[in-house]
Amino acid sequence: MPRRAVIAATLVLAAAGLFFFLAVPPLVAARMNRVAPRWPAAPASDRAHRLHASLRIADLHDDLLLWDRDPLERSTDGHSDVPRLAEGNVAVQMFSSVTEVPRGYNYEGTARAGDLVTALAVASRWPSRTWGSRLERALHEGEKLRRAVAASGGRLVLATSRAELAAALEARAAEPPGRRAVVAVLATEGLQALEGRVEAVDTLFAAGFRSAGLAHFSDNEAAGSAHGAAKGGLSPLGRAALRRMEERRMIVDLAHASSRAFDDALALARRPVIVSHTGVAAVCPGPRNLTDSQLRRLARNGALVGVGYWEGAVCDRGPRGVARAIRHAVAVAGPSHVALGSDFDGATTVPFDAAGLEVLTQALLDEGLTEGAIRAVMGENAIRFLQENLP
Ligand SMILES: [Zn+2]
Repeated sequence: MPRRAVIAATLVLAAAGLFFFLAVPPLVAARMNRVAPRWPAAPASDRAHRLHASLRIADLHDDLLLWDRDPLERSTDGHSDVPRLAEGNVAVQMFSSVTEVPRGYNYEGTARAGDLVTALAVASRWPSRTWGSRLERALHEGEKLRRAVAASGGRLVLATSRAELAAALEARAAEPPGRRAVVAVLATEGLQALEGRVEAVDTLFAAGFRSAGLAHFSDNEAAGSAHGAAKGGLSPLGRAALRRMEERRMIVDLAHASSRAFDDALALARRPVIVSHTGVAAVCPGPRNLTDSQLRRLARNGALVGVGYWEGAVCDRGPRGVARAIRHAVAVAGPSHVALGSDFDGATTVPFDAAGLEVLTQALLDEGLTEGAIRAVMGENAIRFLQENLP
């Protein structure tokens, strides 16, 4: 090949490489996490505005840490970052690490093949130890949160215990509205992060993780997924992991669990569980949405159910749909067992971003919930649950 052709080919390859590393991750993130429809939302009523400003808001599930965005910088892409969470008056946000998503993932039957997070980890220039390890990915995403906390000048605070949560909320209450911190709690989505070893529960705990889901989109070594190929129950590893988590006071999350894994976990659990992000089947049928019978059993366990905002959870594209699902969950499980589980930045399309949460307060008023019930669902239930169940 003539030298000029070699140089040209090298330049083309280098440009393609740069595009892959610099442009692809943000493009993927923006395309997969949309706010729609972007209708000009009617301004909230004075009553909704005042109520919203007086709430302590808490949300059980956000996947921001997966993406190549600085959590401290306000973005026009995706759904959440610290400035938008603060603008939406969010007091407590659980951030989940994502460690495995099979190519061709779907709600009905996902084969465990062709992991997309591997490609994202390489394209986003995560450390090479994360490329082949689910556990290292969780730790890396946790580290990303810690770095953001350290660089935030107090705008983002990590709570790993009841004492830290209480102190952070007290400090927050003393600040004027524009300067209140967001308190973060760290979680992971699916026990594939254990890589088959129950001891990895201790590794995650030591790194600040305080909640873990049993499964994500595919069955793993510990538990069956609602979207998996076999949809089995808890394996011996899954049982041992659940016991170890409860000993450490890590919160067990049944979101995405198969119905058999859900049954096994509730039978085994000695402590209250959460379903961090879900829909309710009576309002929106679907393989991962909770039936009324599941909602009642969760209430007996003392559980907390986070209702999500995306169409697969509520079968609707507006805030009223989310409010209707919440109203049903409150009617069946009781007002103290329902919370928010946005799934912001979880490869979802949602009707409002973190800054626009006021429209949900308005929708809950429009659906006829009392101010007391709205206060509970929008955050007080989750804060109480964390106060009771963190170490
Ligand atoms: Zn999820």
